Amino acid sequence: MDWDGLGEETIEILRSYLGVDTTNPPGNEREGVRFLAAILEREGIASETAESGPGRGNLVARLLGDGSLGGVVLHHHIDVVYADRRYWSVDPFGAVIRDGYLYGRGALDMKSIGVLQLVALLALKRARVPLKRDLIFLATADEEAGSRFGAQWVAAERREWLAGAEYALSEFGLVDTGPRYRVPLGLIEVSEKVPLPLRLTARSAPGHGSMPWPDTAPHRLIRALGRLLAAERKLRLLPETQELFARLGGALAGGEGRGYEDLARSLEDPGFRARFFATPHYAAMVRTTFAVTRLKGSEKSNVIPPEATAEVDCRMLPGDDPEEVVAWVRRAIDDDRVEVEVTTPLKRANLSPPDTELYKALADALGRRAPGVVVAPQISVAFTDNWVFRGSGLHAYGFSPFVLAEEEWRRVHGNDERVSLENLCAGVRAYTEMLLAVAGA
Ligand SMILES: [Zn+2]
Repeated sequence: MDWDGLGEETIEILRSYLGVDTTNPPGNEREGVRFLAAILEREGIASETAESGPGRGNLVARLLGDGSLGGVVLHHHIDVVYADRRYWSVDPFGAVIRDGYLYGRGALDMKSIGVLQLVALLALKRARVPLKRDLIFLATADEEAGSRFGAQWVAAERREWLAGAEYALSEFGLVDTGPRYRVPLGLIEVSEKVPLPLRLTARSAPGHGSMPWPDTAPHRLIRALGRLLAAERKLRLLPETQELFARLGGALAGGEGRGYEDLARSLEDPGFRARFFATPHYAAMVRTTFAVTRLKGSEKSNVIPPEATAEVDCRMLPGDDPEEVVAWVRRAIDDDRVEVEVTTPLKRANLSPPDTELYKALADALGRRAPGVVVAPQISVAFTDNWVFRGSGLHAYGFSPFVLAEEEWRRVHGNDERVSLENLCAGVRAYTEMLLAVAGA
């Protein structure tokens, strides 16, 4: 393989792809589909496209194996979140290269991974590598708004696109590095928390703001929210999370990882527990969380409204029963005049085992990418399309060969999102070699 050439090609394709504005809403993924389809066509790879709504494009292409083993779905989402130009130092859709970095919305989340998958596929096709698994390149719409027009639509309406597949690979995962670490930490996502969005509504008589009484709708709602936030839901340490912290403890420099080797026991110590929970990311990994995100009362400050509502972004751990969580919320707020509704269809978290052939190949790939890396499975606190494909019966993982310091991965959904050219060049090699190991005949 001409790795340098493939690296250059990866950078050039990603530059053009970042220039296609697929901000969701509205998504306009059709333009991204056109771009990808043209590249595949040039290489003699047939693709099929489908729109799940006006402008909401989805695409699939397949490199055939001999059918002796199940296929691997390489999926990415075409859409990106909006970028507020006022806070960027470059045009977020200008694909600027500066100081060894390529800037743009989607540089990490996740057009870059989509391009690694694409170029790896092209490399295997050109080299006429015999495959024992089909490799299925899948680009979908709408991940950033819940995937109704993307992964969920494909799983429901284009089941044949996934035919014969055993595995799925997508975001996020990474090799985390930086001064905090003694050795790099590789993360492969095996599961993710799922949202259970709640709406709380209090109702009462309306009135004049000059003559309030204790049980106006907003007052009732505020007291209910106060009780919910004060209630302590029991923490739950899943075996995968325990393993992650044991590995993290070994990777951290200095004394920072002290107590992580046996997290269950350490969390019994109030001092350790307080320190641990002071990191919101860690706190979210061991319990189902409730974030009050939207509040609505009156349209006018001197009118007591007949209704007040709050939206709560609840995120459940694998193993949580949504009905039980809702019942727990009702008990915590302890007021049957505050209505609790779930605003989307109920979901349950799912999980793929960290001992499959593919998982091992991913861990090996990270080992080649970052020598000395300690690899651990992670239950992501954020939602990805892998949840959908696990629901279709596949083992799905979040994998990326990018080596990123915290300062880099924090830019996801933030300002000046960027990826280093080194990551792109080494990343396409790592991705291609991983596919060769897992699917090469
Ligand atoms: Zn993403």
